[in-house]
Amino acid sequence: MKEISVETHSRVEMINITTAVQKTIHEEKIEKGICLVYTPHTTAAITINENADPNVPHDILAALDRAVPLSTNYRHAEGNSAAHVKSSLVGASELVIVENGHLILGTWQSIFFCEFDGPRTRKVLISIIAS
Ligand code: ZN
Repeated sequence: MKEISVETHSRVEMINITTAVQKTIHEEKIEKGICLVYTPHTTAAITINENADPNVPHDILAALDRAVPLSTNYRHAEGNSAAHVKSSLVGASELVIVENGHLILGTWQSIFFCEFDGPRTRKVLISIIAS
């Protein structure tokens, strides 16, 4: 297992971590297998989506903000229930196929770390099952 540290700078943010994940695969000298990208936080998530137009991550974050109000009749006293809900909606992990030492992603796909309660220093864990 490898750990990547991610610094976030806003309350909500999507950070492209594909290069860091690919670097780990090279360091581990994995040619073929399955790569698990997982974040061990309850107010963050991992997703795969478009890397080409920065308006796509912007629109995803805006849509999640509209779908999950920042404050309503939440019971959780920490005051960050919206971030917890978004974390569960998006999910804590993604699996990506590795072939010939490279992540198999579509032309427009990247792996994003999603911050929903930043800014913070976050962890992303990477585990690769070679096949
Ligand atoms: Zn909380």
